[in-house]
Amino acid sequence: MSFKTDLALSIRSIPDYPKPGIIFRDITTLLGDAVAFRQAVDELVKPYVGLGVDKIAGIEARGFILGGALAHQLSAGFVPIRKKGKLPHETVRMAYSLEYGTDEMEMHVDALKPGEKVILTDDLIATGGTAEGAVRLLRQLGAEIVSACFVIDLPDLGGRKKLEALGVEVRTLVE
Ligand code: AMP
Repeated sequence: MSFKTDLALSIRSIPDYPKPGIIFRDITTLLGDAVAFRQAVDELVKPYVGLGVDKIAGIEARGFILGGALAHQLSAGFVPIRKKGKLPHETVRMAYSLEYGTDEMEMHVDALKPGEKVILTDDLIATGGTAEGAVRLLRQLGAEIVSACFVIDLPDLGGRKKLEALGVEVRTLVE
């Protein structure tokens, strides 16, 4: 079997979670599988080796786990993008759209220096509302966004296209 089939099989699908009609793609099973976790991180990292990436920005919460591993592999720093009210120092805030309504995410004002090369990461891109907010927040801090990467793409929901329309390269491992 191919690596991508193995990877897809390591992700657990939970029907009707968190609400009826949603199939939740649970990567805790991938993270708990030593081979799958290493392969996922190795594949995500490959296209970025040698690009001089300064920081990985991870979206709370599963983007922290992947982001930490990517940062280590690329000898880059890690910066968190958090739900509002969680970061202790002065922050910048950005509203973003959810399926129903909006929420806000934050970063520390000094998380990045203008012009730093940043890769954005999360476990999954669906509508792209979360990642779009993150892109706007990173750009507000002056980041040069090299790419955005996700383990899972739900292509029917249009997130990849939304980010590409903002001029952001998108890389994903499985659909
Ligand atoms: P979106 O803003 O619609 O692209 O949603 C992406 C965010 O919501 C990511 O942080 C994902 O972890 C989470 N998410 C959305 N849909 C799912 C799903 N079907 N399974 C697991 N996580 C999801």
